[in-house]
Amino acid sequence: MLIIGSHVSFNSKEQLLGSVKEALSYGSNTFMFYTGAPQNTSRTKISLEKTNEAKKLMNENKIELNNIIVHSPYIINLANDKEEDKYNFSINFLIEEIKRCSVIGIKFLVLHPGSHVGLGVDKGINNIIKALNEVNKQNDSVVILLETMAGKGTEIGSNFLELKRIIDGVEEKSKIGVCLDTCHLNDSGYNIENFDAILDEFDRIIGLQYVHCIHINDSKNIKGAKKDRHENFGYGTIGFNTLINIVYNKRLENIPKILETPWIKDRAPYKEEIKMIINKDFDTKLKEIV
Ligand code: FE
Ligand code: FE
Ligand code: ZN
Repeated sequence: MLIIGSHVSFNSKEQLLGSVKEALSYGSNTFMFYTGAPQNTSRTKISLEKTNEAKKLMNENKIELNNIIVHSPYIINLANDKEEDKYNFSINFLIEEIKRCSVIGIKFLVLHPGSHVGLGVDKGINNIIKALNEVNKQNDSVVILLETMAGKGTEIGSNFLELKRIIDGVEEKSKIGVCLDTCHLNDSGYNIENFDAILDEFDRIIGLQYVHCIHINDSKNIKGAKKDRHENFGYGTIGFNTLINIVYNKRLENIPKILETPWIKDRAPYKEEIKMIINKDFDTKLKEIV
């Protein structure tokens, strides 16, 4: 079954209920949200009342809780331990984020592995492993999904070998997985047009069973640009047909697919993009929506 949705908002008042309503307005059967603003760490307490109302609405619309994804904030950086207080802050914030996921019943939490900011890849990877093992001591059931990165700056995780090294170091394998991002794969240098070859390589190095989420984004930049700038579905260098083939790839069936494409004129494009995906029909007027 096609499980498709987008990034949606999560505000302090409506919380998960608002997220579900937004997702339904796009015709989604899944969604991803940040438990607060992606750039900062101010978070409101999860309301059980709103969560239960949201779950009821999800049930009525056959949205499965296990397909819902949370994305952790960008400011968490587990790779950099130059300043002990910042490193510890990242670890503790991730623990809090996992607890928020647990309260709601969310299974999958996407995480950017981190940037080594000059410490080097080896040290960065060791820091990430140490942090994840620390975090998992207080994690009962949430699976942390390392996102494949574009390779901007000193980002770790822009190739499968680095992700494999992190996974190898994580003691509890049931609490670690991967989120593939099509824009990031393209920007980091993978030949996105031959997605089956990418999946073969992933399967050989890590194992496809570790993939639990896919971010579906077009890219503003050419393969290997290491930029990380998302483009609307079919409007970038990856293109409509390649993205459609990824969305409908048999090997990725039943894995939640999440759009993180840019808004157009202060408006979310997700309803139109999801329609394009379901109909497999390119909307040449998407950018003209008002
Ligand atoms: Fe991300
Ligand atoms: Fe992403
Ligand atoms: Zn990105």
